[in-house]
Amino acid sequence: MDNDLYAGTRQGSAHRRALATEAVHAGRDDLAGLGLHAPPIDLSTTYPSYDSRAEAARIDAFAADGTVDDGPPVYARLGNPTVGRFETALARLEGTESAVAFASGMAALTAVLLVRSGAGLRHVVAVRPLYGCSDHLLTAGALGTEVTWVDPAGIADAIRPDTGLVMVESPANPTLAELDLRAVAHACGTVPLLADNTFATPVLQRPVEHGARLVLHSATKFLGGHGDVMGGVVACDEEFARQLRQVRFATGGVLHPLAGYLLLRGLATLPVRVKAASATAAELARRLSVDPRVARVHYPRIGGAMVAFESAGDPHEVIRAVRLITPAVSLGSVDSLIQHPASISHRIVDATDRRSAGVSDRLLRLSVGLEDVEDLWADLDAALGEPVGVTGHTAGAGLRVPE
Ligand SMILES: *Cc1c(COP(=O)(O)O)cnc(C)c1O
Repeated sequence: MDNDLYAGTRQGSAHRRALATEAVHAGRDDLAGLGLHAPPIDLSTTYPSYDSRAEAARIDAFAADGTVDDGPPVYARLGNPTVGRFETALARLEGTESAVAFASGMAALTAVLLVRSGAGLRHVVAVRPLYGCSDHLLTAGALGTEVTWVDPAGIADAIRPDTGLVMVESPANPTLAELDLRAVAHACGTVPLLADNTFATPVLQRPVEHGARLVLHSATKFLGGHGDVMGGVVACDEEFARQLRQVRFATGGVLHPLAGYLLLRGLATLPVRVKAASATAAELARRLSVDPRVARVHYPRIGGAMVAFESAGDPHEVIRAVRLITPAVSLGSVDSLIQHPASISHRIVDATDRRSAGVSDRLLRLSVGLEDVEDLWADLDAALGEPVGVTGHTAGAGLRVPE
C-alpha cells in the first residue's frame, strides 16, 4: 500500500524510509530544532493559559469531534506531548494516520468497544483464541457489548445491523494460530476489523495493509520490550482516533508520560529485537519439533519471538525446572519467559471454550528473548527432563515416545 506517511521529510522527496529508520527517527522530527537529542519528558498535569476564551474554544472543538490542535494541552487527561511522540512513531510504523495510547492493552480495547457501543453498535464478532482477558471482557459483556464467537469462515454470516466490530488476533495468543487477514477483512464488509498485532509487531506484519481498520497493541509486550512498562495503543485513521481520544478523556485510561518515553525508546530497537529473537525462536521451534519429549510445536509462518509447544509430560514440571528462562506471564521482553496458558494467561476463559479454541492443558507458551540460542536450549533441554515413560538415558534422539 502506498502511504505518504512514509515519504521523506524533504520537500518533494518521494523517498520512503524503511521501517528500521522510522523506528529510530519517528516522533523525533522536531528535536534538532529544539536543540535536543533525547526526547523531553513533560510531566505537567495542567498547563497555564491567560486566555480562557481560547481554552474554551479548544475544549469545544475537542468535545465536538475530538480535534486537538498543536498548542499545549489544557489538562493531561486530554493529551501529553511525550505520549504524543510515541503515538506519532507507532502510527508511522503501522502505516496509519494516527495512534492513540492508553494505560494498558486492556484500556485500549475498552476504549474501542466504548466508541462502537456509544454509536449504538453493541455487537462484536470475534474469533478465538484471543488473549485471555480480551476473551473475558467480550464474554462477560461488562461494557454492554454482546459477542458472537465464530470460525473465520463464519464471520460474514454472523454480522448483524448492530455489529460494530470484528476482532481477531494473528498470530493468536497463546496458540500462535494464524489467519488470512485479507480474507477476514473482506468478510467484514463495512464493519471495522480490529487486529491485535501484539505478537507480530509492525516489524513482521502491518494489518492495515491487509484491510484492518484498527490495530491493537499491548505495548507492555514487544513495543516496550524490557518488561518494565505497561501500556496499550490503537493505530488507526484520524477519524477513529478522534473518537478514541474523546473516550480516553472521558474515562481516564491515559498512558503516563514516563511510560510514553519508555515506549518511544523501546520502538527504536523494535526491529532489531524482533528479528534477533525471531531467529532464535525459529531455531528453538525446530529443535523442539524433533524432540521426543514434545508432542506438538506451534510456530507461525510469519515468524516471531513466540513459540508454543505441548509437552509430552507434565507441563507444570517444565515450568518448575527452568532456570535461565523466567517462569512468568507476559511476553516480549529482552529476556525469555515461559508460562502455562491454562493456568495463567487464559485461566479466566471457561475451560471448555479454552480447549475448543485449541489451548490444550499441555500447552506451554515461550517468549524468546535475546539470550544466546545454545544457553536457551540447554535450559529447555534440562527442563524437559527424561523422555516420558523412560528411565535412565536409554531414549535415543528423535525417538517418538507414545503419549
Ligand atoms: C497482554 C495482551 C493484551 C493485554 O494487554 P495489557 O497491556 O496486559 O493490558 C492484549 N492482547 C494481547 C495479544 C496480549 O498479549
